[in-house]
Amino acid sequence: MRIRLIYPKWPKLEHQTEFHLPPHGPVVFAATVPEEHDLRFTDEHLEPIDFEEDVDLVCISMMLTCQSPRGWEIGDRFRDRGVPVIFGGIGTMLHADQTQEHADSVFLGEAEGRFSQVLEDLQKGQMKARYDYLDNPAPVETVETARRDILKRNLYNYRGVQMVDLVHASRGCRFNCYPCCVRYLGGRKFRPRPIDEVVAEIESIPNNRLFLVDNSLAQNKQWELDLFKALEPLQRSIISHPIEDDDEVLEAAAKAGAWYIYQAVFDTSDYIRNRIQRYRDHGIAVEGTILLGLDEHDEDYIKRLMDFLLEVKLDLAEFTILTPFPHTRSFDDMDKQGRITTKDWTKYTCGQTVFKPAKMSPEKLEEMYHWAWDTFYKEESHALRMGRLLKRVMRKEEKLGIKDRFKSVETYQRFGRPA
Ligand code: SF4
Repeated sequence: MRIRLIYPKWPKLEHQTEFHLPPHGPVVFAATVPEEHDLRFTDEHLEPIDFEEDVDLVCISMMLTCQSPRGWEIGDRFRDRGVPVIFGGIGTMLHADQTQEHADSVFLGEAEGRFSQVLEDLQKGQMKARYDYLDNPAPVETVETARRDILKRNLYNYRGVQMVDLVHASRGCRFNCYPCCVRYLGGRKFRPRPIDEVVAEIESIPNNRLFLVDNSLAQNKQWELDLFKALEPLQRSIISHPIEDDDEVLEAAAKAGAWYIYQAVFDTSDYIRNRIQRYRDHGIAVEGTILLGLDEHDEDYIKRLMDFLLEVKLDLAEFTILTPFPHTRSFDDMDKQGRITTKDWTKYTCGQTVFKPAKMSPEKLEEMYHWAWDTFYKEESHALRMGRLLKRVMRKEEKLGIKDRFKSVETYQRFGRPA
């Protein structure tokens, strides 16, 4: 069967340096498609979609709410030609009913061990309108090495510099943070992959720079220690979400090549100040993720927060506006309170205000959001700071003599599909 897998384009945050990472959802999904099928991939951020292509099935992988309306347009255009269209991914799970209106089928949940049945159903003319595994996650041991061979790797660079590859060592999250939908998507239970499989997957990636996209690594101290110890011999440079605030774990992470961490900065407490410093003490850089528009935020609060951010000297900062995504506690609360001002999902970019803030007007919140980006990056631009982080890792690679690990696309393709 000829299958075209499509990753629709979404609008990037206007203040961020524009670069594109290889998407993770599509390559993880591709590993669930039996090898006898001819699967090809289009990332619409980097290549146009051929709407006239002769294919047997279009699969649309959506991660974000603001990506969904474009995904629906793409689905409609293929369906107008009679090409069957199935949607999957996080964005599909968050907007299942609306997506259904643009789909022959909607796949909800984890596809491991399940997608061959969908293809068999399609071949028999019996594809179901909905495959719903949301309450029944796939056993994490069945997650295979993602199929990165479907990516055109030379397209994923920033000013000619190789970007990171995305990989995950676990699913689920034991926390339940206010604006987060991971509980709905991946379950409250932390589900680590077998560490030897994670190591084997990373060994198959011809890129020294990796982003461990696990929701949070700070879930189980012993698992974190085991993971970092197993990764140490591979000497990759690793970006990740938070790591346990524990000396032993931070030391193991640093030895394994922890490069920089995305750390939520949710207040101006000594706890956050020390947390940032402790990463630094272990040679790990910090990108602060700062959510603006929580109920306690007013103009003065945001200004005080900025003083704090400049004082603790974050390496990078990413500001976003609180956005009540469906299936989060923030959406349920605000919907009940009648505070959601639009359900035009194209505005759910985290750079626009789609609700009534408690202590500011929506316009003031947006003004403070732009002010935050401009103020933080006044002395040094985002691009310059990002370049500095990249240089740091390039120097390390040179010292270790591992820059040859950056194989060209052609070399990678000669390797074929990773084992
Ligand atoms: S924000 Fe992170 S730590 Fe909190 S529930 Fe979501 S994934 Fe877990």
